[in-house]
Parts: sequence; C-alpha cells; structure tokens
Amino acid sequence: MRNTLRYTLVSLAFCAGAQVSAETVALKNFTLIDGTGRAPVANQALIMTDGKISWVGPVSKLRVPNSAETQDLQGKYVMPGIIDSHVHLGLVNGIEQDYSKFYDRANVEKQLKIYAAYGVTTVYTLGTDGDSIHELIADQRRIGRIDMARVYTAGRGVVFKGSYGGVVGLDQSVATPAETSAMVSRELAKGDDFVKLWMDDEFGTIGERMPYQISNAVITAAHAGGKKAVAHIFYYDNAAALTQEGIDGFMHQVRDRIADPALANQMKAKGVWQIASTLSREASFTYKLLPFVDDPFFSRAVAPSTIANLKDPARQQRLASSPLFPRYQAVLNNAMASLATEARAGVKYGMGTDSGPSARFPGYFAHWEMDLMVQSGLTPLQVLTAATSTNAKFLGLTDVGTVAAGKWADLLVLDKNPAADIRNTRAINSVYIAGKKVPTIWETCVDRPADTCAARP
Ligand SMILES: [Zn+2]
Repeated sequence: MRNTLRYTLVSLAFCAGAQVSAETVALKNFTLIDGTGRAPVANQALIMTDGKISWVGPVSKLRVPNSAETQDLQGKYVMPGIIDSHVHLGLVNGIEQDYSKFYDRANVEKQLKIYAAYGVTTVYTLGTDGDSIHELIADQRRIGRIDMARVYTAGRGVVFKGSYGGVVGLDQSVATPAETSAMVSRELAKGDDFVKLWMDDEFGTIGERMPYQISNAVITAAHAGGKKAVAHIFYYDNAAALTQEGIDGFMHQVRDRIADPALANQMKAKGVWQIASTLSREASFTYKLLPFVDDPFFSRAVAPSTIANLKDPARQQRLASSPLFPRYQAVLNNAMASLATEARAGVKYGMGTDSGPSARFPGYFAHWEMDLMVQSGLTPLQVLTAATSTNAKFLGLTDVGTVAAGKWADLLVLDKNPAADIRNTRAINSVYIAGKKVPTIWETCVDRPADTCAARP
C-alpha cells in the first residue's frame, strides 16, 4: 500500500510538468528601503520565487517569466519585515498574566499572527518559554513558508535564586556556578538560539541581584555551546561589569542613570550590542492609561474586554498610587539618553520592545518603539536599519533582515515613506511572509468581532 501510494505521488509530480514549476511573483515600481541603511531608491522591482527573493533591481531591468504574476506597487514603499528582538510569548490572556494558565501553542501562535499583522515578521523571545516552543520552531524551520512571525528563542533564561526575573511556573533559577553551567548546557541541548540572564532588583525591592560569578558562568557556558549570552540589566555598574565579563548584548538600556561615553566606548571595544532598548516598555509605565487606547492601529488587535480593563478607573488608580510610578519618567529619560550616547559612540543597536507581559502589546509596541528611538535622536533610516538588518546580524541570521536575493520574501509594503517620518511604518499596505500575503492589522480585527472594529482613519 505504502509503495503504491508513493509511486502514484511520484508519477503525478512527474507528469504534472509545468504545473509544479516554481511559484514566481514580481513586485514592481516601488521605492526600496533595503534594510542595510542605504537611502531609499525609487523605481525598483523584485522577483519572489517559492517564497524567497530571487532578484532585486531597477524596474527597467525586470525580466519576468511568462508564468509570473506581477503586482504594480506604484507609489508604495517596500522594506524588510520588522524584527522585534525582545518579546515574550504566550504569557497573557487579555491583561491577565499567568504562564502556567495561558502558555500553550495556540496562544503563542495567536500572538505570532498579531505580530505578522503589524509587519513584525520575526521575533526573539526572551527567556520565558516552555519546552513546547522548540516543537513550534522546528515546524517553522521545516516548513519555511509560514503565515506568522518567525521565532528565535532564549528558551528559559537564567534567574539567580530569589532574585528578579523569569516567570512563576517555569523552573529557571540557580544558586551556584555549577548549577548554572549545568542548566545552560541542558537548555542549549533543547535547541535554544541564545542565552538570557537577569541582573536586576526592581529598584532594590526584590532580593539580591545576580552575583557576577553566576553571570560569568552563564556567559562561559553559552559561549562553550557556541551561543551568545544576553542580559536584562538596569544599572550602569552592572552593564559595565558584564561588558568586561564578555556579555554579547543588552536587552534593556542602562536606566538608573545615563550611559556615558566611557561605558559606550567599552561596549564598542568589547563588541557588546545594545540589541534592545525597550523604550516603549519604560514609556508604558509612565501612564495610568495608555494614550493610544482608542487609536484604531492599537485597538483593532485588542479585545473590547481588554480595552475596558485598561480604562477601569480602579486599575488606573492602582497604577498611579504605586510607590514606583513616579520614578518611571526619569527611567524613560535615562534610557533614551543612554541610547543616544551609545549610538554616537558607534555601539551597534537593534530594536526591541519587551512586549508580551501584561499590558505590553504585540506589534503595536514595535511601532511605538521605533517612534521613541527617533525621539531619542536617531534618524528614521537608522531606526529602520536597527529593526531589520542589525537585529538579524546579532543572531547571525542570513535569510531575513534585508531585501536581497536569497532572503525570505518577508516584506512590509507601506503607503507612505517611513524614512521621511517613522510613524509612516503604520501606513501598512501589505505584509508578505515567505512571499505570501498575510492579513494586516488594517485588514483583520484580530481579537474582536468585526462590528466593533474601528475603521482605518
Ligand atoms: Zn523581557
């Protein structure tokens, strides 16, 4: 039976001839922002073959096979799909956060489709994943032509016992360097793409920060396994020490004060990347009520019950009366100034939001983050480059991050020029993942009934 079936399939494929030839789609007449940092170039075209970019160049040189479908993108802008270098998946239902209750493949995939709807076609998930993430990733990498954001994971990150970090319900804390090395080796064997550690104490309110002998064991074990080690930091002194220890990247900014040129120069000399600045995270903490709660670009992806919870006066009162609430504006200001210092010093920087925990929303926060990076003093083109090729390079990804031959056709098509105004990343016309259109935030109301879906302004 099995042999017969296989013979039949082979025969069909053989006889089908031209019908099984490559799927070829051409896009033409757009302005290209290729993700490398090159200025926008008008009158460009590209060819997608079986989901990969097979050619990019001036429309005058476009040669399309007869079988190809051609889409005219006159007046549009094409850039690589955005990469968010710092997210957490599957932790929430609405604004309720509980890893043990909500983390499963369906919830993770729902969020990956929200990212995709916002043009975020790849995410790095930062240390709060259950082991099932590895099955999802294996499926994604085998299939390639998926309809949601691609995932790279730090698995379960390393927390010093009793200290800040991680999520309740996931076994991820260590007490000694020996336990640390064992944990990192064990987790890397599952297929983690990089390794995360937390070194913080929530303004001195939680336990003891991770000691340097533990962070050193994390970094050593990660490098022994051929992977990069990244850190959640808050304090200048920890950033300086981890830089000397050989950390590869920071997933938040220095926020207790402003990173100065001395630190930035050390980071540059040691090859430490500021791969996420999470300005949108810090900014979100400064509000009792997020200021964009009624903006359709935000609300179309958010359930009506969640909007109602955000607007609940009791919740706003609770947030505003927290003793930490008055401190967040200074934290945000420090983070923005630290990013500016590092960029001026030549430190490599990416774009990451820390979205995924309660009230930090997938997709929308990436667009807010890019806006805040520009407000920190970067140009829109610098920010677009951070959010695409720089993020890809940090993990050594060679098939995403730029619009170039050989890459996946993960593309964001915009109605307006994002290099002129970063807020034009919200003018989403279409999103392609592996050459196929996925529903954009302007086409689908992800988490709400269609009749409650605010129109595109
Ligand atoms: Zn995080």
